[in-house]
Order: sequence, then structure tokens, then C-alpha cells
Amino acid sequence: MTGQPGRTGRATRSGSQAGAGDLLELVRSGRATTRGALQQATGLSRATVGQRLDRLFRAGWLREGAGGPVGSPLGGRPSITLEFDGEHAVVLAADLDTRHARAAVLSLTGEILAEHGGVLVIEDGPDVVLGELGRWFAELLEKAGRRADEVGGIGLAVPGPVDSETGRVVQPPIMPGWDGYDIRGRLAGAFGEHTGAAPVPVLVDNDANLMAYGEQRTGYPDCSAFVLVKVSTGIGAGVVVDGSVFRGVDGGAGDIGHIRVGADALCRCGSYGCLAAVASGGAVARRLAETGVPAASGSDVRDLLASGHPGAAALAREAGRQVGDVLATVVTLLNPGVLMIAGDLAGTPFLTGVRELLYQRALPRSTAHLDVMTSRLGEQAGLVGAGALVVEHLYAPERVEERLLALGV
Ligand SMILES: [Zn+2]
Repeated sequence: MTGQPGRTGRATRSGSQAGAGDLLELVRSGRATTRGALQQATGLSRATVGQRLDRLFRAGWLREGAGGPVGSPLGGRPSITLEFDGEHAVVLAADLDTRHARAAVLSLTGEILAEHGGVLVIEDGPDVVLGELGRWFAELLEKAGRRADEVGGIGLAVPGPVDSETGRVVQPPIMPGWDGYDIRGRLAGAFGEHTGAAPVPVLVDNDANLMAYGEQRTGYPDCSAFVLVKVSTGIGAGVVVDGSVFRGVDGGAGDIGHIRVGADALCRCGSYGCLAAVASGGAVARRLAETGVPAASGSDVRDLLASGHPGAAALAREAGRQVGDVLATVVTLLNPGVLMIAGDLAGTPFLTGVRELLYQRALPRSTAHLDVMTSRLGEQAGLVGAGALVVEHLYAPERVEERLLALGV
């Protein structure tokens, strides 16, 4: 017998198979939050549930809820509710863009405890950029009042395609010098150099994937098909299906920026006519520069849009129409409940352009229940998603046993 898929799409083992990690997963997902409910969900005896919970209490991962006793599904005395202790550790997250980056310390429940944004140029290469992030992390921990040995892991969002097995980027068009580089090793090392802490797991994923994950979990946990499109220097999409990031077999899912749209503009990937070459923040910046408006990057376009620059707004709307044309296909294929636009161009002119083409080109059936909107978490979406990815990795049922043994409980 197998359990129900959880919030994260993960099955929980039941019967004598259910270990401490499975009980933790049931509590974290809210599917069983009392001893009685855990017995009922797993078929384990009261004594066995008690033994396994004791290990989680000793590790500091579980605590009794503040809400007081609730009725038990097995009848009898009301039970104390159990909850995941979100304070016993922290995670670190960073989100790299081409010319700037953000980094944060997050609680295990996704709250940002300290945050820093600053100039970090991806073209300076991985050694310099990741070394600097190590320094940022040390300063952020001090700002948050947390120790380096409380850090459970690090999550990193990068603007390129990632092989999630190795954490390395694969032929990234806008990350020169990063192809195949050992990001995990360098970032863990830089964290250690600046804090003296032992190595922690480092997870790397594409920025649009992690932004989609962060937005879906915090704003739309019940949406089973969620798409986020990031339009900044490049264009990429993140897809979350049944609570998990959908990466495809090679991590290439969602890389819509290099779909050929038939124009003759040269793309940074080396091909001509890519969507990113005509409708990204970088492309809009180039077209503005041709008319004498000082703009060199997606973030310059963002600033112009924020100040109401009419030329920037017109070009953003046109870019939205070009992206909307491609998104009509995306929406037809995935039938998502939410299509979220994020990044430097996310705003009313671009969204208007997307809607114009999307509703014109997609079948009514695939847009009947579709919400098209701009990002809710804004610049924090990637950080929240990266932090959540690390937390799900650390407390995944299959990893809990090993970690509890390492803690000696
Ligand atoms: Zn391209």
C-alpha cells in the first residue's frame, strides 16, 4: 500500500516501512499533525510512532504546537498538535542576474531573515562571483544573528540551463566562463573560507525554475500547473507541475528564449531570430539605444518603465506581443492555472502585449481558467524558491534517516 502524494508530489511510505522521515513529511505537509493522525496515516502502533517522533524531537526538528490539544481521529483524549520547528536551522540563498545579485538568510519556513542586493557581474566568472557570495553570506549571517553552523544548505539561482544532477550550467548563452564549472564545490568552499563552517549541501537551479517554485508555493499552493516567465536580459520559463519543478530529461524544459520566431536579429546563443534576441530586456535596451536613449541592459529598461518613458513602454508592449505569441503554444501544451510574468519587463505595457496575442492565438479552452499576472514576490521570488528547494532536499524522507544518524539521535 502506498500513501497519498503530498504537497510536494512525494509519496509517503506507510505500514512498518514508514520511518521518521515519513512522519516528518506528514507533519510538514499538514496531512497528519497529531500522534493519532500519524498512526492512522501510517498504520504504525502508538509505541512505534512515539519512538520515531522522539528522535525528531531530540533533533530539534519537531515541536508541540502552540494551539493546544485537538480532537483525535482515533477518539479518546484530545491530542497535542505537532509542528515542524522552523527555527532550528537556517538556509542561505542567492539569485544571480547578469549584472547584479541578491542573497539572503532564510528560515526553514521561507521567511527572509536578512537580505542583501548588490553589483555582481556574471561575466567576471564563477571563481570571482562565487567567492564574493561567500563573503556576502558571512555578513548576512551576522546581520541575522545566526551562526554559520546553523546553516543547513545553500541554494543558488543562475540565469542559464542547469544539469540538476551535477549542479553545473550547460552551454549558458549569457554566462561566459561558467560552462561545466564546479559551482557546488566553489560555493561550499567560499562559504567555508569566510565562516570557518563545515561544507554544506549546495543546490543549483535555473532562475526561472526557482522563481516559479517560490511563487507557486507561497501564493498558489493548490495550482497544479503553474508557469512563470522571466523576461530580463534573457527570457526563460519555469514550470511547476503538482508541486514540483518540471525540468525535463536534461534540465532544458522552459528554455523558451531560444525558440526561433523568424526575425533576423543575432542572439547571444549564436543563432539568429531567437525570441530572446527580439523581445528580452536586452533586446529592448538595444532598440532604445539605437534611438539615442541611454539603455544597456534589462535593468535600465526597468528603470525607464518605472519612470513612465513612453518609448520604453511602446517597445515593452511590442515585446509582450512577441512573447505572448510563443506563450499561446506553451499554454496550449500545459493548460496552466497561472501564467506569471516576472523580471525587468514585468509591468502593465508588457502584460498588455502578452494578453493581446495570447488570447488571440490560444484556444479558448486552454485559457478559460487561466490567470495572467505579474510576479507577487518580485525580486525575492528566486531567493524564496532557492531556499525552499534546499529545505525540501534536507528534509526529504529518504534523506532524514542519514541526517538523524549523523546527529546521533
Ligand atoms: Zn538564442
